[in-house]
Amino acid sequence: MQAVTFQAPGEVRVEERPEPDLLARDDAIVNVDATGVCGSDLHIYHGRVAIEPGFTLGHEFVGTVVAAGDGVTQVTEGDRVLGCYCSACGNCFFCRRGDFHQCDDGRVFGHGKTLGSLQGAQAERVLVPHANLTLRRVPEEMSDDAALFAGDVMGTGWHAVDQAGVRAGEAVAVLGLGPVGLCAVQAAKAAGAATIVGIDSVEDRLEAAEAFGARPVHLMEDEPRAAVKDATDGRGVDAGIDAVGHPDALELACRLTRKAGTVAAIGVYAERVQIHMGVVWIKALTLKSGQANVIGHVDRVLAMMAGGLLDPTPLVTHHMRLADAPEAYAVYDRREALKIVMTP
Ligand SMILES: [Zn+2]
Ligand SMILES: [Zn+2]
Repeated sequence: MQAVTFQAPGEVRVEERPEPDLLARDDAIVNVDATGVCGSDLHIYHGRVAIEPGFTLGHEFVGTVVAAGDGVTQVTEGDRVLGCYCSACGNCFFCRRGDFHQCDDGRVFGHGKTLGSLQGAQAERVLVPHANLTLRRVPEEMSDDAALFAGDVMGTGWHAVDQAGVRAGEAVAVLGLGPVGLCAVQAAKAAGAATIVGIDSVEDRLEAAEAFGARPVHLMEDEPRAAVKDATDGRGVDAGIDAVGHPDALELACRLTRKAGTVAAIGVYAERVQIHMGVVWIKALTLKSGQANVIGHVDRVLAMMAGGLLDPTPLVTHHMRLADAPEAYAVYDRREALKIVMTP
């Protein structure tokens, strides 16, 4: 089968790879109909996250179950399903608490040995461990493009809003309007936020945020702190969401958030960074962080998408063939796309 493999920083290739086989009773094999290119794939593409050459990339997928072990009870052959970006065992200390994103046996698709040696979904077929937890049936009327988001990007945007404890009538600032930030804008709206300030420096992304109900604020051309003060009677937002993963964004989120508010850092951090702890302490901020508990949220997110409360489809800017993956990565790297959906 064809698969997109990492070769070296800046180089991916479409290669012939062996068909996956069922290895455990609760494994399933999914024939991939659509797979996304994601910001976290770019971390690998840039060499910031190191994986083995020849490893299959990708962690966003929608497809059809073509084989399932006898321990798979929640989906069956022929079902149209979406995958979560990671798998979880369902039985460890953390899974029993519902913290599936911290599973002791958690594995992320397409991220090499360090994240569980689970071959990726940018391929014609993908092996799915713990399929009862990792897969969900796609509601009949939902498009592949939309469903793709439930297992990763929208689940992550929702997680940020959930972590920040956003309640009806509150004010939220979203810093960074990439796909996750834009999904966080939608999720904040769905959670009942009355005021959403969306901050970025890319005009298209500001326009998208505005279309989703946010007040667009240009990071450099506008004055984010003044804009937030203006929108909140000088108090600051109840929740600040850092969807960038850069200390400048985290610091600004802390500055924009009101006393006793919550800052959720959903952007990726893998290194030591400095922020002004005095600001955090004196304002009694709550700081939440970590990758998203997508498995924990996926049913609710799917239901909200099916009910029209969340709609990620405007974020899909490109459809490409899996065979054109090197071009897709190059386009994404040039920030010319929000979401690229590839079909085998
Ligand atoms: Zn992703
Ligand atoms: Zn577990």
